[in-house]
Amino acid sequence: MRFTDKIALVTGAGSGIGKCIALSLAREGADVVVNDLNVELAEGVAEEIVSLGRRSMARGADVSVEKEVISMVDRAVEEFGRIDLLVNSAGILDQAAPAMKQRTDDWQRVIDVHLRGCYLCCQNVAKYMVKQKSGKIVNISSIAGVVGLPMRNAYSTAKAGVIMFTRVLAVECAHYNINVNAVSPGYIRTPMVERLILGGKFDESDIIRRTPVGRVGLPEEVAGAVLFLLSDTASYITGINLPVDGGWTAFGSYGDAYRLPSPGKE
Ligand code: NAD
Repeated sequence: MRFTDKIALVTGAGSGIGKCIALSLAREGADVVVNDLNVELAEGVAEEIVSLGRRSMARGADVSVEKEVISMVDRAVEEFGRIDLLVNSAGILDQAAPAMKQRTDDWQRVIDVHLRGCYLCCQNVAKYMVKQKSGKIVNISSIAGVVGLPMRNAYSTAKAGVIMFTRVLAVECAHYNINVNAVSPGYIRTPMVERLILGGKFDESDIIRRTPVGRVGLPEEVAGAVLFLLSDTASYITGINLPVDGGWTAFGSYGDAYRLPSPGKE
């Protein structure tokens, strides 16, 4: 049990990667504040955490709205006394469109949820962590923050911003014993990706061909990396961006010349 009696706040924890991280932390002994804009989803996860024997609280704050974030963080500290661990996983996708045709309000909303949301949650939680002189933060970025994904200008831009925000905050917070890192998932089987596959926006076989390990990832595989960075084992790691992408960003693929052979057909 790596997180016995630690207090965690996980944003976007009503679904997908955030939900998996919140439940994994609870299974390893943490009490978890479960944030999601969809408060019913957050309440469902909070109930699961309580059934695991840990304390939990659901908060429906919009991470892009400053007063809602401040009130969520203050309420969490009032209830649990401190916050040891923060994971920023709340996220949305933009409407697929080239930048020239993107709606400005759509672009802005995606930047606000990912980048402003990450900034506001880190800022307000870090204030308490500085007083505690300890804390660990993991921000969920994406492979889209490392390479430019066409038709996803806002998403890629926001996620690249999250990686740089993470680095700067890590440097600023290091002498307070606060570690700040980013994790960049590749294609992970969550409701966000399922919606794209079912909506015909992605062909799963394309993802499989482009990913060296030859499959879509699982939320548990992202949670494993996040929990490592939140653990004491990672005490000397700060300011990094850890890809959890089955080799996607390592692979300079183009065309059939660089197509990977299928297993058994080498
Ligand atoms: P998801 O849609 O399953 O979960 C995201 C959750 O965030 C939802 O429950 C949603 O209600 C919540 N949310 C959205 N806007 C919010 C807001 N303003 N305030 C609070 N909560 C809000 O998606 P997921 O796949 O689990 O994605 C989690 C994170 O991982 C996101 O930041 C996403 O960009 C990132 N990511 C996902 C993948 C993937 O393949 N699934 C890949 C790379 C990065």
